[in-house]
Amino acid sequence: MQSKLSQEIAPFYVLEVLERAREIEATGAKVIHFEVGETDFETPAAACEEAIAAINEGDTRYTHSLGIRELREAISADYKESYGVDVSPDRIVVTMGSSPALFLSMLALLDPGDEIVITDPHYACYPQLIKIAGGVPKKVRIYEEEGFQPDVSRIKAAITPRTKAVLINSPANPTGVVLDPSVLRDIAALGVPVISDEIYHGLVYSGEARTMLEFREDAITVNGFSKLYAMTGWRLGYVIVPEALVRPVQKLQQNLFISPSPIAQRAGVAAMRRGKGEVLGMVKKFSERRTMLIEGLRNLGLSSSAEPSGAFYVFVNASKLSNDSLALAFDILEKAHVAVTPGVDFGEGGEGYLRLSYATSPENIEEGLRRLATYIRENKK
Ligand code: PMP
Repeated sequence: MQSKLSQEIAPFYVLEVLERAREIEATGAKVIHFEVGETDFETPAAACEEAIAAINEGDTRYTHSLGIRELREAISADYKESYGVDVSPDRIVVTMGSSPALFLSMLALLDPGDEIVITDPHYACYPQLIKIAGGVPKKVRIYEEEGFQPDVSRIKAAITPRTKAVLINSPANPTGVVLDPSVLRDIAALGVPVISDEIYHGLVYSGEARTMLEFREDAITVNGFSKLYAMTGWRLGYVIVPEALVRPVQKLQQNLFISPSPIAQRAGVAAMRRGKGEVLGMVKKFSERRTMLIEGLRNLGLSSSAEPSGAFYVFVNASKLSNDSLALAFDILEKAHVAVTPGVDFGEGGEGYLRLSYATSPENIEEGLRRLATYIRENKK
């Protein structure tokens, strides 16, 4: 009955860890959650108030398929203010999260069998999104010893006549690494369209993240409100595309999703215009938690030589505990009641690693570290 595609699609293991954690919690035990890629902070108050105003004003219908003008202007102003780049609101398409933004971009670029180059490890959903859009993911390994920075000569070697884009993500999930400007520049110069997933922009604790738009005006730039504005459940994102892709992406959006929600879009405008103060407070707290988790894990012998200076993840080498990260993650969950994401969720290149998110309270980080210390003491191989 099922399609080949639906049979072949890989599960998102982090959700399977989360589901098992919920079962353990149902027995009354407390689980420490380091697995979820979602902040525990509240959406900025201005965004919530604006959404309620939208509902009260009856602003509850479809919007323009490209998104409301005010939000597209706010996004344009935000990129200008943050990076000094000029992006016309006419090149911005608002979507229901950055996941649809990625998917629509791929649908607009790919003919069956066309390729998109991604890194390995990579954000778990990339290969699946490419396959659903009819394409083929071409993986290029990145290595801890190289700071998880892509080696551009390896990317170049992976490019074929069928390559439609190189997809990059900085700050990166799962490694937390911010790509060097020189790497961005070299990727921009490859002569192949670039999709730049900038969803973790703004969540940077040392150095700075540069937008691909500084290096290539035609970079397909994906971003959203889930991470920086703590708005995962609102489903709001966007993609900045070169002029030639506006109409193709718009037609795909019209057929697939019609329009994003007006309530979420108005909240997005308020978040960008009036939520920045709250956001800066969150970033400061993330920075403190980051230091706490990195130091605590290092004391347990779990570290990475690649500096996780962005997003809210650390990606630690756990190969001295096990080379089977999936089995290790479930063993830690069962024995220590600490939920972590197996590195293999992010591709073969992530095997032997665990991803821990510090989007949880300092008290939980402390307790999680205590439990991990006990686990490691009792389970050393
Ligand atoms: N890209 C990356 C790298 C992510 O980590 C995520 C969420 N985990 C997304 C895209 C999708 O986010 P959303 O659809 O909520 O905007």
